[in-house]
Amino acid sequence: FIHFQDVSKSFGQTRVVENLDLAVEKGEFLSLLGPSGSGKTTILMMLAGFENASSGTILMDGERIEDLPPHKRGIGVVFQNYALFPHMTIAENVAFPLQMRGMSKAEIATRVKTGLDRVRLGHLGDRRPDQLSGGQQQRVALTRALVFEPKVVLMDEPLGALDKQLREEMQLEIRELHRRLGLTVVFVTHDQGEALTMSNRIAIFDKGKISQVGTATEVYDHPQNAFVAQFIGETN
Ligand code: ATP
Repeated sequence: FIHFQDVSKSFGQTRVVENLDLAVEKGEFLSLLGPSGSGKTTILMMLAGFENASSGTILMDGERIEDLPPHKRGIGVVFQNYALFPHMTIAENVAFPLQMRGMSKAEIATRVKTGLDRVRLGHLGDRRPDQLSGGQQQRVALTRALVFEPKVVLMDEPLGALDKQLREEMQLEIRELHRRLGLTVVFVTHDQGEALTMSNRIAIFDKGKISQVGTATEVYDHPQNAFVAQFIGETN
């Protein structure tokens, strides 16, 4: 469904993604794990259209992704540094991607209401982001990413700022949405437990390359090399 074919990305002299070959299956939940700076965020940025690959090809549904403008890719993003628009209300934040796609006012109103109700925030649509707790803001960000029914959702540490209880609540929420909507999810996290419970497959990155990719059991029970064994051992 999504194919990275020999994809590299450099910033100046620094190569941060190196000859990446990776296929993401339709409907799968794939987590990217690895040390800071190993290129995980850059991979999401190339998919979302915030960065272009320096070389190689990324295909989505058989089409070169570079040929599609970002808002036509059917990709929703939840990035930690891609915050809610502070000057807009919660409802306006969620409506924004729908307006970009030229949807009618009536349809937008219905979708915003349904989306916010689903994460139990329907009563807070008129507030601004700074009047919500961190966890509520994360739920709005998730709703904004899903409201236009994307095929793919990219999440970069979406639960990083939350306390344990909220984090577990949101993990359930995301898993439920993944299952119910048949979404393809690419998820970056520092939390191995989170990757373990949520993913169909895990890819472990080392300096811009995949060191191992497989199911959680494959990766945890049968690390293929010393790097994976040590990475898992260290932070487990
Ligand atoms: P983390 O877990 O800390 O988010 P990561 O694995 O997601 O790390 P990336 O954010 O993809 O890693 O960064 C990979 C490398 O690319 C880092 O060394 C980073 O400094 C560099 N980098 C990322 N974006 C840019 C940019 N726009 N310009 C220059 N260098 C960049």
